[in-house]
Amino acid sequence: MKIICPNCLAINNVPKKDEYKKANCGSCKNSLLKNSIINATSNEIDKIINNSDIPVIVDFWAPWCGPCKSFAPVFTEISKEFPLKALFVKIQTEQEQFLASRFKIRSIPTLVVFKETKELERVSGAMDRDSFENFVKSFI
Ligand SMILES: [Zn+2]
Repeated sequence: MKIICPNCLAINNVPKKDEYKKANCGSCKNSLLKNSIINATSNEIDKIINNSDIPVIVDFWAPWCGPCKSFAPVFTEISKEFPLKALFVKIQTEQEQFLASRFKIRSIPTLVVFKETKELERVSGAMDRDSFENFVKSFI
């Protein structure tokens, strides 16, 4: 399956397994199991969505938004639970206003889930830890 490296955005081909002991990016050699969050720009988002065979969970946020700030640690924590199962992306809507309008983001935070290049689901408003964990699991 195709996996985008969160560190260098190279497209990797990784065999699909239930569990992974080791998987490194073919380009930058960083571990793909660390599953760090990608802060995506308009130049990158299409590459990410179009080359990920795992669900891509996108958090549209802004620095002035209180609920976004309180949700940020939840997003970070849960992102570490799903190495090679889901990809976690943040889009800063003030810097990426073009993307906010292209994806018709009307309130923030908004979570949008993409799978096989298509939008599957979107939810507005912050979630608590358990709700967000279950939300992610429902796409895996
Ligand atoms: Zn890499």
